[in-house]
Amino acid sequence: MTEFTDTFIRKMLVANSAADSTVNVDGRQMLCFCSNNYLGLATHPELVQAGLETISEFGVGTGASRFVSGNTSLHEQLETDIAHFESADAGVVFSSGYMANVGTVSALVRRGDVVISDRLNHASIIDGCRLSGAKMLVYPHRNVEALEKIVKRYRARYKRALLVTDTVFSMDGDVAPIDRIAKVCTENDMIFMVDEAHATGVFGKTGRGVCQAQSVVADVHLGTLSKALGCSGGFISGKADLMENIRNRARSFIYTTAMPATLCATASAAIRVLGANAVQWLDDYWKKIGYFKQGLAKIGFDAAGFESQIFPLLADSDENALRIAESFQNEGIMVTAIRPPTVPAGTSRLRLTVIRTHTYEQLDRCLEVVQSMKHLFCMESATGKVK
Ligand SMILES: *Cc1c(COP(=O)(O)O)cnc(C)c1O
Repeated sequence: MTEFTDTFIRKMLVANSAADSTVNVDGRQMLCFCSNNYLGLATHPELVQAGLETISEFGVGTGASRFVSGNTSLHEQLETDIAHFESADAGVVFSSGYMANVGTVSALVRRGDVVISDRLNHASIIDGCRLSGAKMLVYPHRNVEALEKIVKRYRARYKRALLVTDTVFSMDGDVAPIDRIAKVCTENDMIFMVDEAHATGVFGKTGRGVCQAQSVVADVHLGTLSKALGCSGGFISGKADLMENIRNRARSFIYTTAMPATLCATASAAIRVLGANAVQWLDDYWKKIGYFKQGLAKIGFDAAGFESQIFPLLADSDENALRIAESFQNEGIMVTAIRPPTVPAGTSRLRLTVIRTHTYEQLDRCLEVVQSMKHLFCMESATGKVK
C-alpha cells in the first residue's frame, strides 16, 4: 500500500460546547481565542429558537438539490434577506463559503480567460481558480502597483478577466486596498469579486463588510454565514442576471443537496438580529478590538499590522509556534498554531481572534499569557515579513 509519509498530521481539540468566549474542552472550561464566531451569534437565543421552530416542520435533511426538490421557502427567504442585507439585487446561498468560492470563480471564468488573484487569498479561491481552467496570475500581497503591471502586460491576451481578493485576509487579518483595486478593474474591463468571509458582520456601519466601510461596489460580493453570523453556509450577492447566471453554472450549487432548511431559518434570524443590533454591537466590539491591539502594542508587537479582529502573532520558529500554542492551552486558553502550508514557510503563527462576547477581563488574561511568552514570539508584523 502506498504510504503517505509526506502528509502533515494536525491534531484536533475536541469541544463539548459552542465556541463562544469560553469553550468546554475535555470537561475543562477554556477561554477561546481562535473562533470565528465573531459576534457570538452561534449560541444566540433567537437563532436557536428559529432552528427549533423550523426543524419540526421541515425535518433535518432536504432530500435533494435546490433544482430538484430541496428548495424550500426558507431558502428563498434567506436569499431575499441576503439581498436586502447587502443592498443588492439578488443573492445566492451555498452550503459553505468554500463551495461559494469554488463554484462562483469557476462559473465566472473558463479556458481562454484569466483570473488574477492576491498571493494570500483563501484556499477556496485558489481551488476555484484551478477548477475554472482559466489562466491564473498571482500578484504580491496587496500590491496594487505590481497588479497594474500584470494587467498591463497580460489583460489583452484573454477574453474575460476576473480579479478576486479577500477583503480581510484570513490568516493575516489585514485589509485589501479594494478602492484602488476596483479602479484597476473598471479601467481594464475586469470582473471584480471580493471575499468578505471575515468582514461580514464585522466591518461597515451595518456589518456588510469592507466594501460598505470603503463605499466600494464589487460585481460579485461573497460573504459567509459561518463566521460572524454564527451559522453555516456561504453566499454571493450582486446584479440579478449575473447571480442567476452563476446559480445555473456553479457546480457546487447544482450538484449538492440543498442545505438544511433549519439552517436557512437560523441564518435569516442572524441577519435580523444583526440588523437590530449592528450599530451598538459593532461600536462595542471595535472598542474591544482596539483595547486588545493596544495591549499587544504595549507588549512590544508591531501593532500597525493589526487591522481587524484577527491578530497574527508570529512565532520565532515553526517549532516554537506549536510550543506556544501548547503553553496557551496549559494556561486554559484555546488557540492553535497556524503553520505551512496554510501560511508561507517561516511565518508560523498564533492566530488570535477577539470576539464581541469576550469580557475585558478575558482580554487582559490573554494578554498576560502573551506577555509571559514574549521571548518565543517575533515582534514583526506578519505582512511586514511576507513582503
Ligand atoms: C472561512 C473562509 C471561507 C470559507 O467559508 P466556510 O463557510 O467556512 O466554508 C472562504 N473564504 C475565506 C476568506 C475564509 O476565511
